[in-house]
Amino acid sequence: ATPMSIMVASGKGASTGVLFKNAEAIQTLRRVDTLVVDKTGTLTEGRPRLQDVVATADFDDNEVLRLAATLERGSEHPLATAIVQGAEERGIQPGQYTDFESVTGQGVKGRIDERAVALGNPALMDTLGVQAAALTQRAEALRAEGKTAMFLAVDGQPAGLVAVADPIKPSTPEAIRALHEEGIRVVMLTGDSQTTARAVARSLDIDEVIAGVLPDQKAESIKTLQAEGRFVAMAGDGINDAPALAQAQVGIAMGTGTDVAMESAGVTLVKGDLRGIVRALKLSRATMRNIK
Ligand code: ADP
Ligand code: MG
Repeated sequence: ATPMSIMVASGKGASTGVLFKNAEAIQTLRRVDTLVVDKTGTLTEGRPRLQDVVATADFDDNEVLRLAATLERGSEHPLATAIVQGAEERGIQPGQYTDFESVTGQGVKGRIDERAVALGNPALMDTLGVQAAALTQRAEALRAEGKTAMFLAVDGQPAGLVAVADPIKPSTPEAIRALHEEGIRVVMLTGDSQTTARAVARSLDIDEVIAGVLPDQKAESIKTLQAEGRFVAMAGDGINDAPALAQAQVGIAMGTGTDVAMESAGVTLVKGDLRGIVRALKLSRATMRNIK
């Protein structure tokens, strides 16, 4: 494309909230056939809310939620915020914790009132040797509703579940329909469980799901798709997403997300609205047509 047509596209993009980092981003985007999207904060609001609390026989709901909220005071994860706020709204006072540890992509653990407490996914329970079979069926049922279910363990025993749900951004369904119209395959990439991810994907008509991915494996998932011959754009918002944004042929950051994501991306969607990708794609295609 000519420098002039690039400038025009860049200006048109900016006026609708689509920021291209450079000419290369504009020129490359038109070749994309696959859009990989992070679930949390990209397809969804990224502000989950507490939905369900389940207790095993030796505990009650309030105690489960109190322990979970106490531990989550140590975490800045959106799941943690949901649990702390949910407890607050139910009038539950969190306590004090010590020996806090965050296990990336799995959950949190620490000590509360002389007890070892852990909250997270089945991988965390496995790591800690907790037999959570009694809660598995209930957890699966919550996940099938698109919720994220976390296991609470106390002194190595299953104590309960807390489940949160992250609302879909109102603009997401329309964005996916428009991407399909442009012939783009949409793939969801998430650290969340298969069942939760599939439930959300089905409701959005998403083509493919890659779930249970640890944060440092997201870039590897992009490489796998590229090895299949796909030309990949990746949209994400978090610090964890930055390597995957850099690995994709085009990285697309949510302007509502972290600075690190934006630095790694060729395109930033100022309002965090995926419909911007469709506009960006059309601009890229129109720009390249001008020079033929
Ligand atoms: P995502 O890709 O959706 O942002 P993460 O990789 O951050 O997900 O986390 C993957 C899973 O690990 C979560 O679905 C949750 O089960 C568990 N997890 C991560 N952080 C926490 C936390 N602070 N408290 C409880 N569970 C957590
Ligand atoms: Mg995320």
